[in-house]
Amino acid sequence: MIVTKLKLSDSLPLTCSRTGTCCHGKTVHVNPWELATIAKAKKLSTQDFVNQFCDWGGIKLKFEGAVGYKNQNSCSQYIEDFGCSVHEGRPLACRLYPLGRQIQNQQVHYIHEGKEFPCLEGCPVVTELPKFTVEEYLQDQSTKTFERGQDNYLEVMQQLADIAFELYLDSGLAQSGNIETLNQWSILGNSTPDELFQFIPSDWQKELIHPEIKELKNPTDFATQHLQLLLNKAQHDFGSVTTLEELQQASAVMMSLALQVARSIGADPKSLAEHWIETAQLHL
Ligand code: SF4
Repeated sequence: MIVTKLKLSDSLPLTCSRTGTCCHGKTVHVNPWELATIAKAKKLSTQDFVNQFCDWGGIKLKFEGAVGYKNQNSCSQYIEDFGCSVHEGRPLACRLYPLGRQIQNQQVHYIHEGKEFPCLEGCPVVTELPKFTVEEYLQDQSTKTFERGQDNYLEVMQQLADIAFELYLDSGLAQSGNIETLNQWSILGNSTPDELFQFIPSDWQKELIHPEIKELKNPTDFATQHLQLLLNKAQHDFGSVTTLEELQQASAVMMSLALQVARSIGADPKSLAEHWIETAQLHL
């Protein structure tokens, strides 16, 4: 896929013409903090919001509203002639669009897909509207807090994967000659989003998607508390497992959680699983 890297000072037709074309036919992921935020904006519990409006266990918004632009279905939150019904709580992907965010070598880059500015196709009228620099657009869309939320959940993902590694490499499992664990990581990385979610035990699904955290304003506090709840549960459930079979199962559960969080922030579980398997093999 061709992407165009942008400078913060680049001036682009980033003013929204409010035709709603970009709320049709997209994939919008939400991390657990975004899910709680969007559910609050909808005045629903996260459980009810997931049941009504999400796929893949609460990490993707359903797009099965009325057919519109290019015969594509609208987002479940889109209301014809009104716009986004959860504007205050909309996730980062919607705030950034048509921009994307890439992290390479710990540097954040803002990009758009293709060589041409994406809005020109569905919204040619944007050329008649005032231009924004990338920096002005990010400020206007209040992306900072939501970008921090993505980075916080990147850290949560890494910590969950670290436990999967520990359960494999530091427990005697790898030393026993077991390679089934890595095969299972590979299966999880290659499974469909629904299969991956179904693999996660129901009590872990609940802790991952509906953690009991009241304070929503600050994604860093939310993700920190969430991680602690997950670490406490890992300690409770797996802190005293001893058989190789139990260790293998525990490592697979932690890997499935890491991959689910990865998908919720828009990362690719397949390539991550491949990378983690290679890393584990280097330590055998
Ligand atoms: S959440 Fe709102 S802005 Fe985002 S795609 Fe759905 S309707 Fe559009």
